[in-house]
Amino acid sequence: MWEILRRPLQRGSLAGRAASPLPAGLEPAAQAAAAEHELLGEALREEVRRLFRGSFKLRHLDSGSCNACESELQALLNPFHDLQRFGIDFVASPRHADGLLLTGPVTLHLDEAVRLTERATPRPRLVIAVGDCACDGGFCRDSFAVHQGGEALMPVDVKIPGCPPTPAAILRALLSALGQDAVRALTPRG
Ligand code: SF4
Repeated sequence: MWEILRRPLQRGSLAGRAASPLPAGLEPAAQAAAAEHELLGEALREEVRRLFRGSFKLRHLDSGSCNACESELQALLNPFHDLQRFGIDFVASPRHADGLLLTGPVTLHLDEAVRLTERATPRPRLVIAVGDCACDGGFCRDSFAVHQGGEALMPVDVKIPGCPPTPAAILRALLSALGQDAVRALTPRG
């Protein structure tokens, strides 16, 4: 992504005039982020290969989020992060999933949908709560209209805090979770 933007920004071709110099430190910071992402991704690919025969499928389950957590999950599929090249992808049906990615505090309105989706996911499976809301209800945990997170309806194996967590934080948490014995025991080849 950075490489795509860098050249037109430096040439000034977008504005039709000479571009201002880029802020000092921007390019090294972008390169450091890209390098970290590659390292995380390669480590994840290795864990996915070992535990899931190279293909780890996740069903995203929105239980009433504000959609910011979804934006970060979508960013994982953009050309910069390109999560699929590490063997992880999203599927449309819970019946095809190795795990659920839960966002939102589980509103009472979506209670039945969450229960049905959870029941439709084959065992063993991982439940991964993404964002403060899914972990414990987040900022709306005291509301009468929510369940205070996924644990009210199902066991949660991995919690990824943040409001919202960044794509790098999600990758880091997934990697660290796949390395834990408790999570390995839930995986088909754990
Ligand atoms: S954790 Fe934050 S960003 Fe995610 S759904 Fe809740 S309020 Fe939105």
